[in-house]
Parts: sequence; structure tokens; C-alpha cells
Amino acid sequence: MSQKDFMLLRKTIRTNRLVYGLLKFPRLTAFLLTYLLGPRMIEKETPGNRDTRFGLARLGSGMATADELASMRWYIIAMVEMMENLLKAHEKGEPIVCYDWSVPSEIIRAFHVETTSPVHFNRLSFNNNSDYAMEMIDKADGEGLDYDMCNLNRVAMGAILDRQMPPPTLYVSASHPCDSSRTSNQILHYLSDAEHYVLEAPYHREKEDLDFYAKNLWDMIAFLEKHFNRPLDWEKLKKSVENINAFNKYLREVTVLHRAIPSPNLALYLQNTFSLHMTIPETDYAVNMAGKLLEIARERVARPTRKMKEKERVRVICWDPVPPAFDYYKWIEKHFGAIVVIDYEGSNFIPDIDTSSREAMIRGLGEYRLMTGMIRQTHGDATFITEELEQYIDEYSADCAIMNNTTGCRGNVAAKKLIIDVCRRRGIPVLFLDVDIYDKRINSEAEMKTKIRDFFVSNGWGR
Ligand code: SF4
Repeated sequence: MSQKDFMLLRKTIRTNRLVYGLLKFPRLTAFLLTYLLGPRMIEKETPGNRDTRFGLARLGSGMATADELASMRWYIIAMVEMMENLLKAHEKGEPIVCYDWSVPSEIIRAFHVETTSPVHFNRLSFNNNSDYAMEMIDKADGEGLDYDMCNLNRVAMGAILDRQMPPPTLYVSASHPCDSSRTSNQILHYLSDAEHYVLEAPYHREKEDLDFYAKNLWDMIAFLEKHFNRPLDWEKLKKSVENINAFNKYLREVTVLHRAIPSPNLALYLQNTFSLHMTIPETDYAVNMAGKLLEIARERVARPTRKMKEKERVRVICWDPVPPAFDYYKWIEKHFGAIVVIDYEGSNFIPDIDTSSREAMIRGLGEYRLMTGMIRQTHGDATFITEELEQYIDEYSADCAIMNNTTGCRGNVAAKKLIIDVCRRRGIPVLFLDVDIYDKRINSEAEMKTKIRDFFVSNGWGR
């Protein structure tokens, strides 16, 4: 193993441990971020802030309250432990299973094995330094991995080539949600040199689609039992499902509370929970984070402060995958009083999973994954995107919508005309940013901010 192997992972563990320690004192950290670090982070990337800026954006870019930071403490420790366990498994030569978006990965973890996902590595890269993703994209390019694919997938491919991701011993992919993931799954599998199991996920989510998915999940369990030569630990899975139910119950309420005017303004942290859905939603840490967010949301809705009322001038829906390269939620709040009230990845409408039988649990876990943000909207036809958007414009009293229109995300880009018509019908303006999800060289942050500024000014929401 070379010195450079998993360097990114090790560095992230170190910095996140430090942040976790700081977050034991959320008031002090909020003060430090608001008055010392934050102001140097939010406006633009500089050589001096490049290493920390994107990690800090997850923590509210110096605009987070002590309560919000306290919720993020659970998120940070969940990620740290997951990364440490992954490295330990690799060092001990234990199995590591890599899985795709819509795979209910808690079933795999109920075999007492470590898991990872390419998605996680993308976010990881940005928690360190935004240049890292460029390096991975260039690496993927150099190996002939086509630019037609979404850069989210190409960063993961570059990470495998660069030995930043501990190599999986098994790869479980799924046939949904998006074209780019389907294509890149095969290449990820080829690059990882691991055994590959493909789970067929349904296109729609009617009763028969969920039955179909449940049947395929049972086939996957049979495959895994044979592969690991041991049975699934049903006790562990049941405990996981109970925690997932608590996690989603809290987040559903937080999502709905954002209909209030002023909103509790937690969309950024709801979006952070997307990483937990994709990694270890069954942990007590995830439940604690969701519980804390609910406590904050209830308090803010019950007793909105004058500051909250004055701050919220524009209510925004952000309705396709947010490019971590251009984290603008707090920037639009600071400059235009624009508050994101619901977004694509963080909004939670996941139903409870029935734990009364093994069959019901497996079916419910399939539905959970199909209903998780981003998978929920992209695994079916375009109405999955547009009907939700139309409904939320009214329910969340939205003044406008922002579509990131990320290059490579073909399904969303193709829906542009439908989205324009939905917004026209509901009488709200929509901004299409046309950015790449990771490659800041395609559209610079400055260009994106100019577009946002022009949009808000032309609609009378700023100068
Ligand atoms: S951004 Fe779009 S294309 Fe890229 S992985 Fe997500 S759903 Fe797929």
C-alpha cells in the first residue's frame, strides 16, 4: 500500500474528528464561525480557504446557529465512524460491499460487513478541497471514461483509479435511477475488479412495482447468504428498520414544518441528511440528528423570532440535484433574504416501514429507497419530477424555483420545457443555472452568482 492510498479518507477523518470535538461546544463554535472563519468563506474561493470552504458550507458557511451546529455533530460522528470502519475492514482484509443509490444497503450491513457507495466519495472530495474533484475527473478522462456521463459518477471512477476508495470485494448495483449511473455501474465494476450483483429496480412505484422490487431483494438476500456463507442477521435488520422509521418520521415532520411562514430555514441540514440516507441511516447518530432538527423546527414554527420574519423575503424551491461545487443556499439568504423552503434531495416523504414480518420489512426497505430524495424523482418518468414540483409550489408558498440543470443529469435537463410550463402555470419565475455538478471549470462560481443576482434583481428581490 502506497503512502498516497486513501489519503483523502484519512485526512477527512482527521479534520472531521477535530470538527466533532469543536461541536461539543456549539455556542463557541457558532461564534468562531460567524465572526472569524465564516466571513472569509462564503463569498468566494481563495487559495487560503480552499481546503476548508466546502466542508464549512455543509455547516452553514458561518451562518449556522448553535442549535444547528449541535445537530451536525451527530452527522459528523456518523461519517467519521463509517469511514474508520471502512479503512479497518480494508486493513484486515474483510469484505467491503460497494452499492448503488437505490440499493437498501442496510440489508447488506445486516450481514455484519462494511459498505460504501460511490456517492459518498464525491461528497467526501468536496469536504476537503474543491480541486480534488477536478483531479478525479481528469483522471477518469485520461482513462477514456467518457464526458457524456454525469461527473458525479466520473469522480467516483477517478477515486477508484487513484486508490482513494478502498476497493470493494463485492459490487451491488441497481438498474435505477439514472442513465449515467446505469452506464457507469458497469465501468465501476470493471475498475473495481470485484464480483458484481445487479439488482433490478422498478421504473414505477405502484403496488406491483413494489412487489417486484421485494421479490428481487429476496433474490439478493439469497445471493448474499451464499456469497458470505452465513445467514442475514434478522435481529440486526429489525433494529435498523426501527431506527430508520424514527429517522424518517422526524425528518418528514421537519419537511412539512417548512410550509410555515417564516419557514424554520433548515433546508441545508435536511439536504445533509441525504448523505446519511446513502450511508448509515440506521444508526442512533442519524436518529439523534433528525430529532435535534425536529426540536429546532418545532420551536421556530411555534415561536418565530422577529429576525426570522424580517429575514425571509423570498421563498425558494430548489428542484434538482444541488451541485456541491456551488453551494449557494446561505449565499442567497445573506444577499437576497432568499430562503430555500424545500429541495429535491433533502425533502422527506418516506413512509413508515411495517416491521410486523420479514416480508413486510423487505418490501418497506425497497420502498424506502425508491422514495429517498433524488431517487424518488428520477427512477420513473418525468411526471415524478414535475408533479411534485407543482404540488410544492402551492403547499410551500414558493415565490420562485431554481433548477441547477446540471450537465450530465439528462433526465432533469430533458425536463426543462415541462418545468418551465409548470412554473408558468403556477405563476412563478424559474432560474436554470446550467452548472456542472462537480466541475467548476465548466461554469465558474462567479458566473453562477451573476446569473442568480440578475434573476433576483429582475424579479424585484434585490439590487
Ligand atoms: S446528478 Fe443526475 S445523472 Fe448524476 S448521478 Fe444524480 S441523478 Fe444521476
